[in-house]
Amino acid sequence: TIGMLAIDAKGNISGACTTSGMAFKMHGRVGDSPIIGAGLYVDNEVGGATSTGVGEEVIRNVGSFLVVELMRQGYTPEAACKEAVMRIVKKKPDTAKEIQVGFLAINKKGEYGAYALQDGFSYAVCDSEKQDRLIKGKFYY
Ligand code: ASP
Repeated sequence: TIGMLAIDAKGNISGACTTSGMAFKMHGRVGDSPIIGAGLYVDNEVGGATSTGVGEEVIRNVGSFLVVELMRQGYTPEAACKEAVMRIVKKKPDTAKEIQVGFLAINKKGEYGAYALQDGFSYAVCDSEKQDRLIKGKFYY
């Protein structure tokens, strides 16, 4: 999955995501990416979130919507992403050890953060400070 979140100079937030889905997927499978609230969610009053990894677990937790709602409650983007990851761990601890799910989020102030189940989730940031930099996401396991 490629998920993108953007904020303009006026503070307007937008997002997009695209995916090839999972390898060896069942014919007709729909992952999280095309489902608003699961693989992507933006509320211009609060912020935006997107996800990558095993979409079934993201859909179960309405993951990107959850991240945005947590930011509405005052969570930082990274803390919101971590809490969404923790929902998966709490609900399915055995599955969580075996799969990857990562969330990326940005809030209205332009603060951003990410969190994943496993190592190996990096994201790129492009802003006025620097054209482009790769940031290694924090992870649970
Ligand atoms: N999230 C995607 C899906 O479940 C897979 C991916 O991240 O590559 O379809």
